Amino acid sequence: MQRPLIMTPGPTYVNEEVRTAMAKPITNPDLDPGFFEFYKSTCESLQKLVKTHNEVLILSGEAILGLEAACASLIEPGDRILCIDNGIFGKGFGDFAKMYGAEVVYFSADYRKAIDVSALEEFLQKDNNFKAATLVHCETPSGITNPVNELCPLLKRHGILTIVDSVSAIGGEELEVDKWQIDIALGGSQKCLSAPPGLTFLSISKDAWEKMASRVAAIAGFYTNLYMWRNWYKDKWFPYTQPISDIYALNKAVEIVLRKEEFTEKHRKIATAVRECILIL
Ligand SMILES: *Cc1c(COP(=O)(O)O)cnc(C)c1O
Repeated sequence: MQRPLIMTPGPTYVNEEVRTAMAKPITNPDLDPGFFEFYKSTCESLQKLVKTHNEVLILSGEAILGLEAACASLIEPGDRILCIDNGIFGKGFGDFAKMYGAEVVYFSADYRKAIDVSALEEFLQKDNNFKAATLVHCETPSGITNPVNELCPLLKRHGILTIVDSVSAIGGEELEVDKWQIDIALGGSQKCLSAPPGLTFLSISKDAWEKMASRVAAIAGFYTNLYMWRNWYKDKWFPYTQPISDIYALNKAVEIVLRKEEFTEKHRKIATAVRECILIL
């Protein structure tokens, strides 16, 4: 069959090795001890990819589920949340925060430029009473990449948890969760990683787990409740049946990315070339 030409940030082309992985026999993921190990090893590959020791979870749903789960699990009604907005995804993040009762304050900036770190620093001098901030790593519609490497440590210095949507960046841009002190970094299967759509994954810091543990209001959701997963491995228990074939695919896709040296560098070069061509046009 002819290879389909998909020229979008995602879903992207899924290569045969990944599609073949999906054809592996199905066991019962709720009962098969081997699957718990497989799920865990896939999370460990993702930890390597985003350079973290924080726990990683894979959830059954497209990347929007990751955004919503982070908001649902961390935000309690009345919490002040800082929404860093220089694009469509950035602004939209604020809507999820509001859905869970947050009082959202926007730090809005030019949709044609990356966030200016010193401008945010100045803003935080005046107001920094926020439980968490939402940020987008790469604003997919405009192609702008925000300096999360500087923004997240700055927010952390002010005691603000950071939730980073890196859906279109993971694999295509460097992401160093531990070094950049990101509390929740989230991605999806269908963008630079080139796995089929259907999964999201999140790295969750100790501070984020603690915030969930000390909530007063219960988390209003089931699929979006990250806290329910806190003992999944010890108890060998998933909150719901895992999409085993999708996880086979993601595991293989991440293995391929980790195997290919300079994968991110190649993406970066192509991205720079595309951006420069557009500027010339
Ligand atoms: C793709 C993407 C998502 C997921 O959204 P869909 O439109 O449902 O694919 C979330 N955030 C960013 C920045 C994305 O590029």
